[in-house]
Amino acid sequence: MGKYQSGKNTHGEILGFKTIIKPSSESVRRHYQKISETAKRLNAAPQHVLISKLNSIIRGWCNYFKTVCSKEIFSKLEYLTYKRIRRWADRRHPKKSKTWVTNKYWKTVKTDNSVFKSTGKYEVALHKHVKTTIARHTKIKGDASPFDGNTLYWGKRMSNHPEMKKSVANLLKEQNGKCNWCGLPFQEGDKLENDHIKPVKAGGSNKLENRQLLHKHCHHIKTKSDLKVIKRHKAEKEWNKTLKQFNLRDWIWVNDIPTLV
Ligand SMILES: [Zn+2]
Repeated sequence: MGKYQSGKNTHGEILGFKTIIKPSSESVRRHYQKISETAKRLNAAPQHVLISKLNSIIRGWCNYFKTVCSKEIFSKLEYLTYKRIRRWADRRHPKKSKTWVTNKYWKTVKTDNSVFKSTGKYEVALHKHVKTTIARHTKIKGDASPFDGNTLYWGKRMSNHPEMKKSVANLLKEQNGKCNWCGLPFQEGDKLENDHIKPVKAGGSNKLENRQLLHKHCHHIKTKSDLKVIKRHKAEKEWNKTLKQFNLRDWIWVNDIPTLV
């Protein structure tokens, strides 16, 4: 994982790169669970059926995460998948030796001697997690650091994360990776908060045009100033209500004072 995880600031403290770079452990867990459930459900199906089903699951997931996944995660999944299909195979032949089972279901393809592969009419090989080509949309430059002021670079990298909400990614791009309150660039590991520019309580909408990303601490300060806006909004609303009530009735000016009649 090297530089992807162990970015250090000038005080030698590890930065919180982890969350933004890797798929969440929850999505890794869910992915494996899907593999495991499929193997369970297809415990009596022919090998090629299992492989086809697993391939679409594995290819889809790997493709989705190829920009952010580390080799370690793919290796871990590779190992777990092997253990799971090994169990699938062994259970079908309780009276045969391990070697017999291995020879039946695992073949040699080129230099790889452990490919889970069916033979005959429906020849198909299981896709290996570790064979995923790791592609970074934006390559991590060896010397790039959140402190070098290259905000666009980090902004783009963060918004390319498949698990980042699209709306957040859009805002990030729109704001050039900078906080709208303090104007400073977001750094990896920063807590970003999605703020209503005009507070909802002051009549602001929930739409994207009324949204902005702020540092958590900046959001805190902004919220305080929002209170004034909300107060003013409430006072205005109150006044308008009074005025409306007033206009429903008949009134006249008496000594410069509007008076109900
Ligand atoms: Zn800020």
